[in-house]
Amino acid sequence: MPIDFRPSWMNEELAMFRETAARFVETEMLPDDEAARKRGHVGHDLWRRAGEIGLLCSDIPEAWGGGGGDFRHEAVFCEEMSRRGLTGMSASAHSIVAHYFLNHGTEDQKQRFLPRMARGELVGAIAMTEPGAGSDLQGIRTRAERRGDSYVINGSKTFITNGFLAGVVLVVAKTDAAAGARGTSILVVETQDCAGYRVGRVLDKIGLKAQDTSELFFDDVTVPAANLLGGREGQGFYQLMADLPYERTFIGVGAVAAMEGAYEATLAYVRERKAFGKPVAEFQNTKFKLAEIATTTKVARTFVDHCVERLVAGTLDTATASMVKLWTSDQQGQVIDECLQLFGGYGYMNEYMIARMYADARIQRIYGGTNEIMKEVISRAL
Ligand SMILES: Cc1cc2nc3c(=O)[nH]c(=O)nc-3n(C[C@H](O)[C@H](O)[C@H](O)COP(=O)(O)OP(=O)(O)OC[C@H]3O[C@@H](n4cnc5c(N)ncnc54)[C@H](O)[C@@H]3O)c2cc1C
Repeated sequence: MPIDFRPSWMNEELAMFRETAARFVETEMLPDDEAARKRGHVGHDLWRRAGEIGLLCSDIPEAWGGGGGDFRHEAVFCEEMSRRGLTGMSASAHSIVAHYFLNHGTEDQKQRFLPRMARGELVGAIAMTEPGAGSDLQGIRTRAERRGDSYVINGSKTFITNGFLAGVVLVVAKTDAAAGARGTSILVVETQDCAGYRVGRVLDKIGLKAQDTSELFFDDVTVPAANLLGGREGQGFYQLMADLPYERTFIGVGAVAAMEGAYEATLAYVRERKAFGKPVAEFQNTKFKLAEIATTTKVARTFVDHCVERLVAGTLDTATASMVKLWTSDQQGQVIDECLQLFGGYGYMNEYMIARMYADARIQRIYGGTNEIMKEVISRAL
């Protein structure tokens, strides 16, 4: 019996949702992937199409235009993309933005933004990182100054996922530079026809080639005071911290699905490829490597499933979520490296999924809080 990596939390309804996601990924995303990698983004139509068939904001309540499901629905869509090495749509960053609105937004903000995000009309991005501040977010320099009924935003952000296509950006800014963490707030910027807002380069990365990661510039960008997330100044850090388990579980889900996809692709390849008159799969080294890969992947699956279930139950703590991000992203790097080795020279060719997965895996240890920061967070709970 083949090794069973199926998530523990699946049910019939989720299986149907998975079929929809798989069909979308296979028929609408995969055929355009090579072109998207050359362009550096997937294009807005794909987002609208994903929204149309209910794949976006699937865990946002129906009252605000979402699918009315829970994180398992989000995980299913993320898995179907990751296992095929498709990284062009960061539906997870989009969902993270939606959750800021859901968990911290005013009713007016939820009504204004969530239905359009669920339809894929607005692509969401969250802009924290700046050229001079990443891990140490207290060091950000972007300012949002209150002037009458508006905020005026000045500053620049970099490495922003979905930045090129974003219709709505959550901008982390200082509203009171003297107040430390309590002086940080999140402002909502609608990018269309927004004076002073400019998207810089779509950045040239070693992986995630089809995913737009951009610089964003804010030059006297003026937004209504009603665009302060949650309506109260100084809540930015609290809002960022509260949603960390959600973000980090996403990284774990993507990591384990990529490991599963890499394992399956490698198994198929070594059964086909011959050397010294027999399939590569028959060498003892190949069997032992695949046994190790399968074991690591199964352990990762079990840990991720545990976190998904706890997240759905509302009991996932930040330390455990940081553990899943730390461990699965490390294992993803190692497993895919071992898989690539079994492809020989073909594993180094970009036309092979395993090569792209290898480059894509590297970022998992860096974004969402670096793995060093994960260890800091975990060590605070010792
Ligand atoms: C493809 C991609 C997508 C991204 N998407 C987004 C996005 O959508 N939105 C967004 O805001 N940001 C995004 N980022 C930014 C990402 O979150 C940051 O790059 C990351 O948090 C690290 O920050 P930094 O690059 O400034 O590195 P630094 O903070 O400068 O870190 C450099 C090194 O120092 C280490 N270090 C720092 N502090 C400590 C410490 N206290 N103890 C031990 N080691 C430490 C780090 O672990 C790292 O190894 C993205 C980045 C990339 C590359």
